[in-house]
Amino acid sequence: GYVSELDTGALLQDTLPLVQHQARKNGVDIVLDTRARTRVRINREELQQVLVNLVVNALHAMPDGGTLTLSTEDVSDPAGVRLDVRDSGHGIAPEHLGRVFDPFFTTKRSEGTGLGLSVSLGLIERYGGTITVASTPGEGTCFSVLLLSEPQFR
Ligand code: ADP
Ligand code: MG
Repeated sequence: GYVSELDTGALLQDTLPLVQHQARKNGVDIVLDTRARTRVRINREELQQVLVNLVVNALHAMPDGGTLTLSTEDVSDPAGVRLDVRDSGHGIAPEHLGRVFDPFFTTKRSEGTGLGLSVSLGLIERYGGTITVASTPGEGTCFSVLLLSEPQFR
């Protein structure tokens, strides 16, 4: 797809309306902290798709409400942006943490395909970026998307 110099904060702002209705229905508060100023070279629709995947997963993890925190921060060495999608949901069991990016891995009974994270990671890795996850059962989960300002295309 078409690659442009993207302001990740602006993209987060534009992505919010896609998920706000579902968040409100679930009693989830959204906190936005877009401090990154570095621009990243990536296809806008692809990054938006990744964000929606991560936010939908976060909402699934908070069926009884909670807080969704979306933040961006400049990083250096290599220069880029880290985009965090943090939830206060049920968390990921330690024995599942290493498998969440595997194709078809899902813990959802019906609507889960288990493809969201593997497809998202594949998209981001094509630009030389990565996605990492940290989670504490009962406290919540944070997925971090690392994007480089000078991508190494694969
Ligand atoms: P799906 O959402 O279709 O199950 P994904 O690839 O998006 O597939 O996610 C795989 C699995 O990773 C989920 O089924 C769930 O077990 C776990 N997971 C992903 N995001 C979260 C999250 N924010 N909190 C808790 N578990 C998560
Ligand atoms: Mg998913």
